[in-house]
Amino acid sequence: MKKTISHAQVEKTVEEAYRKFKDNTEGKNADYIPYLANIDKNLFGISLCLVNGKTIQAGDSGYRFGIESVSKVLTAILVLRQYGAEQLLDKIGADATGLPFNSIMAILLENDHPSTPLVNAGAIAADSMVKPVGKSDEKWKAIVDNVTELCGSAPQLIEELYKSESETNFNNRSIAWLLKNFNRIYDDPDLSLDLYTRQCSLGITAEQLAICGATIANGGKNPVTGKQVFDESLSPKITSLVATVGFYEHTGDWLYTSGIPAKTGVGGGIMGIVPGVMGIAAFAPPIDGSGNSVKAQLAIQYIANELGLNVFNRYFISIE
Ligand code: GLN
Repeated sequence: MKKTISHAQVEKTVEEAYRKFKDNTEGKNADYIPYLANIDKNLFGISLCLVNGKTIQAGDSGYRFGIESVSKVLTAILVLRQYGAEQLLDKIGADATGLPFNSIMAILLENDHPSTPLVNAGAIAADSMVKPVGKSDEKWKAIVDNVTELCGSAPQLIEELYKSESETNFNNRSIAWLLKNFNRIYDDPDLSLDLYTRQCSLGITAEQLAICGATIANGGKNPVTGKQVFDESLSPKITSLVATVGFYEHTGDWLYTSGIPAKTGVGGGIMGIVPGVMGIAAFAPPIDGSGNSVKAQLAIQYIANELGLNVFNRYFISIE
């Protein structure tokens, strides 16, 4: 069954979501990374990118914020591009931990089998896998080039955030070395951790994230640039990783209420994927207790429910 939605209806719903949640004051900026604590808490942007390349924006969709954990999806894509689906499953895994993003306990509990590139441990392991192994500068270039291709334009490193996070990432340092202890990291732990910290400090806009989501939703072909960024067969693999653990220990609640596989970051960004239809992103700094942006969640949930975007619905959506 096909359901057709008009472009005008999508625009109206995005505008409604923006107005409805703009003045919501729940949540609080992440404060364990000093830079993030000082970002204007009133910033709020929404961006959609349809698989035909059209984008729809509301609010601060052009503001560059710290991509943080959303970057885990992009580097997982790079590892998939370099190694293929099977090796990612073997070396890292695709399972939810059911625990917070930075859990050390998860590593101890699952030391005999891998988890997922979308929590800190798996993301640091993913950075360790990025080729060419052992070469920090070239690995970094591969990471940034991949982000640029997925988003259709270059990200920008927020130096102050990188410094702030590097000075305070003691928990992540433990994770990197614990992975070494269990032979689950594939390059130097400090080098891998530094790449992870740097990729989390990339500045990105909601519009760029929507385009990245649309590239995944569109079988790896960036609908804005027209470039086939990764093999179409990888798309469902990426979306399944995101659906399984995108909201960490609250992924089930999120999927149940929104029906959209999505990934969050403590910088306040969320990137959602509606296969064959669109990428949907929102950004607002105040986050809830699990590190997920309050307003970005509300906005995406509202748009998803109003337009019936739930990926588990039985109909195919076409926006015309
Ligand atoms: N860089 C952050 C960290 O490692 C990312 C966390 C997140 O966005 N959930 O703690």
